[in-house]
Amino acid sequence: MADGVDDDWTEDDLDDEFPLGDGTAETETIVNCPYCGEANEISLDPGSGSEQEYIEDCQVCCHPWLMYVKYASDGSVEVDVYASDS
Ligand SMILES: [Zn+2]
Repeated sequence: MADGVDDDWTEDDLDDEFPLGDGTAETETIVNCPYCGEANEISLDPGSGSEQEYIEDCQVCCHPWLMYVKYASDGSVEVDVYASDS
């Protein structure tokens, strides 16, 4: 049963929520590797949803990170990176 908080944007445009994946949302971010500490510029895929969780390998030391990506309704993104094997 829907509570109407998240799924009413198609009929109620008060906030005029942007469609993720149309180029409005951020598609790149910089994160620091939890293993080697190096900054990595990584690509994001807004079209995959407003909340994502996946594995990304460090471009410097190749260790796998656990990525948590969350888009806000204004297209800004929040990314958390964790060491996946600790
Ligand atoms: Zn690294």
